[in-house]
Order: sequence, then C-alpha cells, then structure tokens
Amino acid sequence: MSESVLHRDAPPILIENDLERPALDDRSYRVIKLPNELEALLIHDPDTDMASASMDVNVGAFSDSDDMPGLAHAVEHVSFMGTEKYPKENDYMEYLSRYNGSSNAYTSSTSTNYHFEVAATSSNSKSASQSNGAAKSGSPFYGALDRFAQFFVAPLFLADSVDRELRAVDSEHKKNLQSDVWREAQLDKSLANPKHPYCHFNTGSFKTLHDDPLSRGVNIRNEFMKFWETHYSANRMKLVLLGRESLDEMESWVVEFFADIRNTDRAQYRWDDVPIYSEKELKKVLYVKPVKESRKLRLSFTYPDEEDLYESHPSRYFSHLIGHEGPGSILAYIKAKGWANGLSAGAYSHCPGSAIFTVDVRLTEDGLNHYQEVAQTIFQYISILNERCPQEWVFDEMKGMSEVDFRFKQKSQAVRTTNRLASVMQRPYPRKWLLSGPAVLRKFDARAIRRGLGYLHPKNCRLTVVSQEFPGEWDQREKWYGTEYKVEDMSQEFLEMLQEAAQSAQEDRPSELHLPHRNEFIPTRLEVQKKSVSEPAKAPRLIRNDENVRTWHKRDDRFWVPKANVYIYMRTPLLNLSPKTYVLSLLYEQLVKDALNEYSYDAEISGLRYTLSDIDPGLFIAVGGYDDKMSILLEKVLLSMRDLEVREDRFKITKERISRFFRNQAYDSPYGQIGQYAWWLIHADGWINEQYQVELPDVTADDIRTFFPRLLEQFHIEVLAHGNLHKEDALRLTDQVESILKPKKLPQSHWPIERTVVLPQGCDYIYEHPLKDPANVNHAIKYMLYCGDSYSRELRAKLLLLKQVAKEPAFNQLRTKEQLGYVVFSGEMLSRGFGGFYVLIQSEKSPDYLEERIELFLTKLGKMIAKFTNEEFEAHKSSIINKRLEKLKDLSQESSRFATHIRNETFDFECVYNDADAIREISKEDFLNFYNTHIDPTSPTRAKLAVHMLAQSSVKEIAKNIKPSEQKTALLELLTEFLFTADITPDSKKLSTKFANVDVAANDPVDSVVDALSAYLANVPDLEEAKVKKTLESARTLIAVSLPSMGVEVKKLGDDEEATGAREEDELKKSWPKREQIYITDVQAFKASLGLSRGPISVKELSEFEDSGPKL
Ligand SMILES: [Zn+2]
Repeated sequence: MSESVLHRDAPPILIENDLERPALDDRSYRVIKLPNELEALLIHDPDTDMASASMDVNVGAFSDSDDMPGLAHAVEHVSFMGTEKYPKENDYMEYLSRYNGSSNAYTSSTSTNYHFEVAATSSNSKSASQSNGAAKSGSPFYGALDRFAQFFVAPLFLADSVDRELRAVDSEHKKNLQSDVWREAQLDKSLANPKHPYCHFNTGSFKTLHDDPLSRGVNIRNEFMKFWETHYSANRMKLVLLGRESLDEMESWVVEFFADIRNTDRAQYRWDDVPIYSEKELKKVLYVKPVKESRKLRLSFTYPDEEDLYESHPSRYFSHLIGHEGPGSILAYIKAKGWANGLSAGAYSHCPGSAIFTVDVRLTEDGLNHYQEVAQTIFQYISILNERCPQEWVFDEMKGMSEVDFRFKQKSQAVRTTNRLASVMQRPYPRKWLLSGPAVLRKFDARAIRRGLGYLHPKNCRLTVVSQEFPGEWDQREKWYGTEYKVEDMSQEFLEMLQEAAQSAQEDRPSELHLPHRNEFIPTRLEVQKKSVSEPAKAPRLIRNDENVRTWHKRDDRFWVPKANVYIYMRTPLLNLSPKTYVLSLLYEQLVKDALNEYSYDAEISGLRYTLSDIDPGLFIAVGGYDDKMSILLEKVLLSMRDLEVREDRFKITKERISRFFRNQAYDSPYGQIGQYAWWLIHADGWINEQYQVELPDVTADDIRTFFPRLLEQFHIEVLAHGNLHKEDALRLTDQVESILKPKKLPQSHWPIERTVVLPQGCDYIYEHPLKDPANVNHAIKYMLYCGDSYSRELRAKLLLLKQVAKEPAFNQLRTKEQLGYVVFSGEMLSRGFGGFYVLIQSEKSPDYLEERIELFLTKLGKMIAKFTNEEFEAHKSSIINKRLEKLKDLSQESSRFATHIRNETFDFECVYNDADAIREISKEDFLNFYNTHIDPTSPTRAKLAVHMLAQSSVKEIAKNIKPSEQKTALLELLTEFLFTADITPDSKKLSTKFANVDVAANDPVDSVVDALSAYLANVPDLEEAKVKKTLESARTLIAVSLPSMGVEVKKLGDDEEATGAREEDELKKSWPKREQIYITDVQAFKASLGLSRGPISVKELSEFEDSGPKL
C-alpha cells in the first residue's frame, strides 16, 4: 500500500508524443503511462465541441465463471450506478445530461468498454461550477472525468442497483431472444470447444445471474465485487481522453483522477493452445432453423490470431479475393447459377490467441438445394489461390487503397474516436501506429499469406446451413435461446468432394473462376485546391433552375478532401401512386442494382459508391466518394437504368428476396416495427408492408418491362453536387442525367404535396396491432402527443427543448427505476407538418399499463419543470443549443444536411442556426405554458395518439386461457420451489391452506400474496426473524416478476417508499380529466375524419439562392 502511495506521486512516463495520422488531422496526441501501469492516450482537439473519454478494461465474458454466465456484462451495468465519492445512482448520467452529454458501455469477449461524451465547453460554466464544484476552467469534461474515474476506483455495487440492473440485463437478453443474429452466434458458441471460453453465454439473464446463484446460496453482490476486484486492475486498462484542453492539462487530470486505480498486475489472458473448434467440432454440418425466413451457408475455419502481423495483415489478402464480387469471383459464378445473392469473407479474432475465418453465403431457394456445390465452388476457388503464388499486384492495389483511405480519413465523432482507440490500445501495435495500424497495409508477406491459406482446408472446417425448410427436422434445442438445430458429421462422400475441390487443377474447375482484373476505379487524381475562406458557406447555391432541372452546388470549403457527394432526386408521382406501383418500382430498383453488381464492385472497394432507392418524392440516386472517377460510375448507373434487360431468372430470385423481406419484417423486434405504423397513421398518403405484400405475388417480369419505361418517361430532376467539384462539374453531371434518360418535364403543378394529419384538441386515439411472432413476449408502445405545425420555428424550438429536458428523467424513471424494459426512448417529432413529442417503450408489461406509467411520468415531469431554477432552465437551453450548433464532422454530414432541406422543399439550410436563436428566446413561463397545454395529462386540449404493438403471448392473452385455479396452482408451485432454494422446506398442504382465500387474479395481488406467505412463514418453527424478513423481500420481487407469466397484471411495485409513491400516484390520476379513448379500427376512416397540415414552403425566394457572385 505504502509503495503505491510513493508511486502515486511519481510523474507519468511519456511513451509517444505523436502518432502517424491522416493528412488533415489537426489533433495532437500523447501516450503516457501512470505509475500504476495505466496507459492513457491524450488527444487535444482545439475545435471539438464534444469532449469524450473511454476506458477499455481487458476483461470480458470469456472470464465469466462457468456457473454465472453474464457476470462481466452485469458488472458493467452495475459499476456506474453509484460510487463512494458520488453515491447517488444516477449522478453520472444526470451530470452528463446537464452538459449535453451521454454515455454507454459494452462488454465483449475480452474487453469491457465504458465511454461518454460531454460538451467541451459550457456557456454557463460559472453557475455550473458553483452548483457542482466540478466544472474546472469552464470545462464540463473535468467533472465528468471525476465521476467516470470513480467507477474504476471505488464503485458501490449498491444492493438496490444490483437487483434492478439485473432486470435491465434480463430485458436486454429478452430483447435479443428472437433475433437470429444473436441466436446463430450463440449456437456457434454453444457448439464450440467446451474448453475454450468462446462457448460462454455472454449476456446473462435474471436466471443465470440471480435465481440460479441464489438457489445455490451465493451472495450475488459479493460475486460482483469479487469479479471486479479480481479483474479490474490498472495495468489492464487503457484510457483515451479527447478534449479542447492542452495535453498538459489533460495529463494532469488523468494523474489527479486515475492514479488511484489499484494495480494488481494481472497478466493478459491468452488462449493460444486451445482451439475454438477442436477435432470433435470440425467436419460437421450444423442445420439451424431461423426465426425469420432466411437461407445461408457458412463455412467456419479455426484460424490463428494475427495480432502480431499488423504490418502485413495476411488474411486480408485472401478475404479480399474470396469475398470479391467482380468478374471471375465465387459470387459472380454462383449468382449466375441462381444460387446466391451475396457473399462475404473474413477473419475475426475472438481473443488473443484464437480466431475464426468465415465465408458467409446468402443462398437463394435454389441455392439451398445446391449448398454442397456452393461449398465445392468455394474450395475450387481456394485451390486457385493455393496454386498461384500470392500476387503482389493484388496486394499493392489493396495497399494503395488502404493508404489513400487513411490519408483522407476525416475526423470521426469524439466518442467514437475514444472508444475505438481504447480498444485498439489493448492490441500490440507500436504506439506510433495506434491510428494507422489497423487501417494500413505495409508489407507484402507471401509466406504469411500462404501459411494463413493453409488453414482454409475442408478438414479444418465446419458448415452451417440456415433454413426454415431444410432439412425439415431439427432434433435439438440450444440452451440459452432455444434455437432448433441438428448436427451431423460431414458424409465421407461430401468430405472427399470438398477435398478434391481444394486440390483441383485448372481443367477440373469451372473456367468462369479466375482472379480479378486490375481495378480501373482506383483514384489517381487526389488533388484538392485549398482556397482560403473567411467563413464556410452555410448553403449551396442554385446554379441551374428551369422547367426540367434544379441544380444545387457547393464547392467544399471546410474539409478539403478529394471527395464529393452527388444526390439526384427524380421527382415523379407515379412511384407512390399505389402499393402496386411502389412494388413495381422496388423490383425495378433491385434489378438494376443486381445487374450492376459485378461492375460496381471495383468502384466500391476503391471508395466510390452509388445507391439507387426510392425516397419520397421519387427515385433517388446518390454517388459518393473520391470524385476522380465519379462520372464514369454515374454514367454506367444511368445506362443500366435506361437499358435494363429484365431476365426471368434474376426476376424470380429478386422477387423472392423482396417477398421474404416483407414477410420477415413481421418478426422484427416490436420497437423496430412500431415506427412504420406510427408513420402510416400520421401521413396523409403512404402504405405499409402488409399492403405491398398483397400486390407482390401477381407481379410478372413483363409488368416490370412495361412499367419502368413509364416510370422514367416524365420526371423533374433535382441535383445536389457537393464537395471537390467545380460548378462546371456539377452542371455536367446534371447533363448526364438529362441526356441519358431524356425525361419529359414534370410541371411543378403536378408535384405531390406531402401532408400529415392534424389531431384535434383533447383527442385520445389508440391503434392496436397484434404482433405476428407467436414466441415474442414483448409489447411496445409509441405514445405521441401532437402539438402543432412542425414548420413553426417557435414550436420546433420548444419541442427540441422538451426532448432535452425529458431525456434523462424518462430514462431514469421508466427504465432504471421502474424497469419497464431495456428499450426506452423519448424525443421530438418534426416531420412534414407534424410537430409533436413521443415516448417509446418495449416491455413485457401491457401497453395499457405502459400508457399509465408514461402519463404519470409526464405529470411528474411537469412538476419538475415548474420547480426549475432559472439556472437549471438556462443550462438545459444551452445544452440543446450546443447540440444544434455542433460542428459538422465530415463532408457527408454536411451533404446530407443540405439534402434533407432540398428533399423536403423548405430549403431551410440554416435551420440549426435558426433553431438555436428560437431556443434562446424561450422563457420558462412560455415553456411551462406550452407543457401545460400540450403535454400535461390534465390538459383538456392535449391531443394524443398511441400505437400499441401487442405480443401474442401477452398477459391478457395468457389470462384468457388460464383458469383461476390454474393460476393458483402455478403460484404455489413457484413458491414451493422458491422456499426450497431459500433453505426452508415447504409443507405444500399448509401452504395451500394459507392461500385458500387469496384471489390471485385480483387487481394488484402482490400484497395479499406476500401477506399469505408471511402468515405461512410465521408458523414455520426455528425461523429467525431476519431470515423471514429477507425471504419475504426476495419473494416479493419474484412474485411481481412472475405473476405476468401467469396472466396476472402487476401494477404496484415493491417496497414502502414505492407504496407511498403509489398512493401519491393514485391522487395524481384523480386529477386527470375523463377522456374518451377512441380505438382506431379503420385507418382510412380515421384519416378521413381529420384535417391536414400545410405542405412545405420554401423559407426564401429561390432566386435568393441563385448564383450572383464570382465563379467558384
Ligand atoms: Zn448491457
């Protein structure tokens, strides 16, 4: 101890004082090491408006004990719920929220990463420093670091927080239960080598972290603290700070706050000698049944970890070639056969010492019948790689692009920078290369490539076939997610076929397979003429405006990269005329993309991308990236659109894919689906998937052939060209669209006007949608309050401020305290005339119950706002103003800002500055008035619309199918089991006598159930009073959590404080006016009964945007 005190005062050691960095990176860097072995990277960025820090602790789910899966993850959740220095549970979040900040954390296999961002400066630093004593030198960063550091110095693990966060973890797991990504990943883990921690279940659940340990008599909280004490050692932590302060100042803060972290000199965990799949797990075929309809083939190979080969990154050479999509590639071949829609390949390191190389193929229906031949093709291609020595020119192309990409890399968001770098620091890169190491290829190492290729062998492989149809029976279920699967040995015949393929000679292979050609899209002209400007322009100029075309242009004056973005809107009412025309357009788009795939792949890997999609009000093309070869790609896209040849086989595959996409959306998470219904109810026009699905089956290839020329016959062209482009370039790109597609003009009077509904004062609408997935247990609610015209600056300002004020309390109340569910969002709605506020929750609790909780929350929030001091109110205002005025991070962010205002036809390019001005004007009185009129549940003028997504296995549904006697039996079984685990041998007969008069199905039965249990325990001999009390406490939680699954709704929460809260809440509820709830059953009739918002109007005369100044 005394030694560490001595050390503590020693100065940090300088490890590196600059990093290899992109050409335009004006940040400065320093790497230091504290006496406790904590390594920290400091980043000084004089212009950043957000400061951020991230700590990566080198421990994760691989270190979970076998009998407590999810422990590392749960420790992550709990460790920022109160520390010795800042014991209040939400102190950290509240502080961050006050300064426009936010925080997050994640747990991976060998890392737990904590990070936050916060305003880099505070406009009311004075008041802040008075109230917190923390905002040193006007920087909220200082106070945030102080709180952040304490998680690693002295977290409290308050019993209360532990219990509640375990439920958050449980809800997080439940959210993933029906997700195929999680299910398939876990199945791969569960069927891996049991000696390798890859087999762990990482998330954890209430069962693995609470019920099971309790039943073994384990003190959960102690386990958490033990885990933390064992693994959280300073020498295994990497810290990154990014702020406006000087490197010296940040260094002094790191010493001040982080030098106290204990160092127990833990060695890094490695798994060098244990393969992820042992002999036992290889040469197998796994058949997996997915929740959503999908067909996939995966080849997984054990692979060595290449951590130390950071100069050559050997696996990238062959993942580039195996994953290639151009002529000669595996994908081009199996696509031409009609077997596949996509393919990807790469090595993934799961921990120091072990990795997996995977090849993933998205199969078509026909491809599923031919999965063995697909695998054969992959090995035939691998035989080409083995036969031809590693080609240096292929590597050189890759190396060249990696250098260009790194050289012109633009700054990323502060928090992304810190959390990514903190995890990079766990790897053995020379510190000078922390930025460039993962990105840049430096050395062609033919031997290492050949060695790596040697692992891609059939005997070192296992296959996974994902399909709902094949083989039709799955005899096993995965433990954690219940995924149905079946495992078989690869048949001798199949294995031999693959081995032959892997050693095939040229004459045995399809001649279509070969290495790619040289890539024509690699940019060669990378100059940027940097011109000095006093201030960057806030809007593009309108450089062409006639009956056919509007072209907007801005030559980049902020980022100075050899890149550009060109957006082309082809405005036509035909696309969205009916669900049928939409479906036809969608198929057309997909067929064009399909036809372009081989060609555009080279462009894509050279940093030049295109998209073709449908965005109201029509078709939309975007081309972005290095501008050098941009017009070549655009021309090819336009020609493919014009000359598309609709092939029957591609049509069939594409149609099948789209129809699967529609079907699968019904199996998305409820909160992922809810937006579509909300959107549909609010917008005057538009349709939902269910309507498209009806139209799709009848569509033929001939329909597309006759439809698309009509779609392209008449439209208006609107272009935004932004970046390293001259005005002439922008005009030339516009000409390309006109001269290739030759559309007839679409007069402005034919343009559709986008409108939304206007909800009447005092309304209370509910739209219910039953969810399709029978196994899903989660409901969701989107609770929306309509407040007026979204184009009104005043209303926008108030809604933005409300979002800021509500965010942290909503999360704290609805998620942290009430544990309604893992997903809790709130925010403003500002879309096409509809101005409003929403709260969204996904939960096992019923939407009716959630609605009541939301209204109680809104009542409390109103009271909180009324009590705001002037300072608090102003702090919220400046927080949201800072957020609005945050600096643009890169070219694309600026492009998409312009594009938004062009697309919605308001041309309000300076919107954020206007918002900031309007927010400044809001007085507390104004705001409270607004709240009391539009938000507060007691307001008679409030207009509400809620969408309820109902899980099939909802409490109500269960209640319908369960008799009261069954409910009681289930409850007694639960309690009997519980008493066993609490070491009290239950007497079933006596227990059921005590419960004879308890009405389980009554409203809020928790109290009466606990009372009956208490009466029973009173008669159990030799039971200490303390034990009784503790047992009853745990029982109360268990009962409250379990009753819903027996079809009983639980409203009241546990302890006394909350019981008083409940009484208060009953009083509050009495003040709500009686409103008539209207259930929307006919959406068309609902919309017909309402008025519509106004459409968008330009904020300025368009002529004011026209170019009058000198040529740029
Ligand atoms: Zn989590």
